[in-house]
Amino acid sequence: MEDIATGLLLRIRSSFQKRMEESKEIQALYQKIQSGGATYADAEDYAYQIGQALSQAFGENLGSAVLPDGRMYYNIADRILRPLLEEDHSIVSKAAQMVQQALNQQAGIGITAQTAAVNLDRIQGIVDKVSNAEVFDDVAWVLDEPVKNFSMNVVDETIRKNVNFQGRSGLRPKVIRKAERKCCSWCSNLAGEYEYPDVPEDVYRRHENCRCNVEYDPGSGRRQNVHTKKWTTDGQRDMIEERKQIGLANTDIFRPKNFHSTIGAYVNLNPSELLEGAKAGKRHSHAGVYRDAVTKSKKQLQKSIVSRTAQVERHADKIRNPENYVPDWREKSIAYRGGLIRKWEKDMRRNAEQAEIELAVFEEMYGL
Ligand SMILES: [Zn+2]
Repeated sequence: MEDIATGLLLRIRSSFQKRMEESKEIQALYQKIQSGGATYADAEDYAYQIGQALSQAFGENLGSAVLPDGRMYYNIADRILRPLLEEDHSIVSKAAQMVQQALNQQAGIGITAQTAAVNLDRIQGIVDKVSNAEVFDDVAWVLDEPVKNFSMNVVDETIRKNVNFQGRSGLRPKVIRKAERKCCSWCSNLAGEYEYPDVPEDVYRRHENCRCNVEYDPGSGRRQNVHTKKWTTDGQRDMIEERKQIGLANTDIFRPKNFHSTIGAYVNLNPSELLEGAKAGKRHSHAGVYRDAVTKSKKQLQKSIVSRTAQVERHADKIRNPENYVPDWREKSIAYRGGLIRKWEKDMRRNAEQAEIELAVFEEMYGL
């Protein structure tokens, strides 16, 4: 059986390769993709053609007549179908990534295009379905349309992966699904434009014989940091406005309550716990802030609280609008941006904690 599998694999693979090399459509599409001028419609077309070449190579070489007992035993299915479907995936996946990379560059997005992971469940499903049948010819159809569908799905999955990746890094990409004229009502209902994160998973699904078009759109290209989402609600905006009106620096109308709510809008803290910890010297920096705070005059303490709260707000604004603080923010690597955001978050938290300790001291000494 090993020999049969090896021989069939070699014959199918060489037929698959020959079909790809000789197809004018595949060559033309590949050149377009390589030149950077292709869209996802081209990638889908390419995926379909590659899947078709593979399904034809299967059809040409497989049949009950060439298989032991007329069926494709699991061992053979596993050794033939799995590697060839993985090859299909790798060819299509590389092309789809090239398309995405070109689209990123055109949109000025300095993010590397992501590739789809090979869908092992689907490969397993095909292997199982084919090997479960007693007569191969009864299930030969599984190596036709489902293989083309598998191939096209690699492109859909590439879009999904890139949209989610870019969305998580703060972009708001869109997915546009256009229904093929004669497709089904499910597809007609699904047609439309979706902006991350409101993209239903179905948008990336494709039933058999579905030739609908799924496209990626970079959106406005404006970055809205995911970390700051909670700080851009209207209520919190109002609080910032309120703070501006109160004038934090005006110590004549110094009200601890206003500082608690300003800090609380950005960082979740337990002030009494912080004060206890600072008194007990649990954290070195907190103990130092506490020691200094109790020796400060009322005016000095107010000034310090104002300055630390301003630092909290400044860091929150940095996290919200990093492009206002770092030139070419969008061109920086994900790792760099992530590292800087985390540093700002740490600085923001430290200032918030120190301000709360001073506020607690202030309240103990001068009342609320
Ligand atoms: Zn469809």
